[in-house]
Amino acid sequence: MFCEASLAATVDGVRLWRAPDHTRLVFDLSGPVNHKIFPLDNPPRLVMDIAHSSINTSTNGLDLSTTPVTALRTGVKDKTDLRIVLDLKTAVRPRSFALSKNQQYGDRLVVDLYDIGQETVKTVKDAAGESGNRDIIIAIDAGHGGEDPGALGPKGIREKQVVLAISKELQKLLDSTPGFRARLVRTGDYYIPLRKRTEIARNHRADMFISIHADAFTKSSANGASVFALSRRGATSETARYLASRENQADLIGGAGSVSLDDKDHMLASVLLDLSMTATLSSSLEVGAEVLRSIGGVARLHKKHVEQAGFVVLKSPDIPSILVETGFISNPKEARQLSDRSYQQKMARAIFNGVNRYFEKAPPAGTLLAARKTMGGGGVHVIARGDTLSDIAVRYNVSVEDLLRHNGLNSTRIRVGQRLKIPAS
Ligand SMILES: [Zn+2]
Repeated sequence: MFCEASLAATVDGVRLWRAPDHTRLVFDLSGPVNHKIFPLDNPPRLVMDIAHSSINTSTNGLDLSTTPVTALRTGVKDKTDLRIVLDLKTAVRPRSFALSKNQQYGDRLVVDLYDIGQETVKTVKDAAGESGNRDIIIAIDAGHGGEDPGALGPKGIREKQVVLAISKELQKLLDSTPGFRARLVRTGDYYIPLRKRTEIARNHRADMFISIHADAFTKSSANGASVFALSRRGATSETARYLASRENQADLIGGAGSVSLDDKDHMLASVLLDLSMTATLSSSLEVGAEVLRSIGGVARLHKKHVEQAGFVVLKSPDIPSILVETGFISNPKEARQLSDRSYQQKMARAIFNGVNRYFEKAPPAGTLLAARKTMGGGGVHVIARGDTLSDIAVRYNVSVEDLLRHNGLNSTRIRVGQRLKIPAS
């Protein structure tokens, strides 16, 4: 079965990530290996044999507490091979694949243990909305995660942590606003392949998809926030092209294995793309423009318009999708800001205001916002740093006096985080 006897590799590290539906083990290798994996019953175990290899690291530090694995044992098989045995609480559906080395990591072996009987059936009724006044569902996609740290900033700041923090702030704002409901695509520190992210948004019946990032650029002087939509042709700038190709490589780092597009995806790709993409793209550009405008009050903008490039994660044919680069983590000043809790909140508020403004103007049919619009009611604006009442009045096409009256205010003093009810214009 195993050949190439000269191939001798060592396992130099083991990492573990727990996702809602599976556990991922990553073995760092000194070189490529052949491996096989098979389950055993009574008690349930998973056996992995790695040819011509040995282990050169301790596995004692692994936190197995939230996983189906109770212990990880290693031994020698046939004098030359490494055998790893995972003792399991319950049976799992295993899948394993090799990842060849890249700029960030060396050769790796990835073992995914899928929970059995955890299939997601619960999503449909979430968004159904019996009354016809359903919430607008916003899928928030914190980029990277788990094996893929994203961009690395000074002092060990990692993009995956920063963007999850901003995503959670945004979720709080949306969930506390009537008419909206947020769904986090990634809820913790684990990797999700790019295609899977759009699928999760679709399972949640999202009305919109926002992917949140804080990337690095080759020059540490590069700075500013940007908003991107998909491009069906080329990219609108060199930076956009560069960032899209970087983002699209995430699956190589985070490990998507041999996930290929299924038949439905192919069908979508060929037929629906052309039919509905034009409409979806124009919505993406509109909501992107609103978000960019709000972010302009908080951060320097890298470009004054929504840029476009071929981001894989934005390729939902039917869900308006944008990618927000909240800043460059490779820029020391922005890295400092992005890791600051109150700046994260400001950024989340700005994104919220842009999204809110867009949906106030163009609420999908059957939503609470649509019903309110027909009845002549207005929306909500959360005060961000730099906002003034007169700006807000202009933005929503109402007068300052109306704003004051509608909110029962008797001075134009406002504070960051305050919620203003917007009268119908
Ligand atoms: Zn990123």
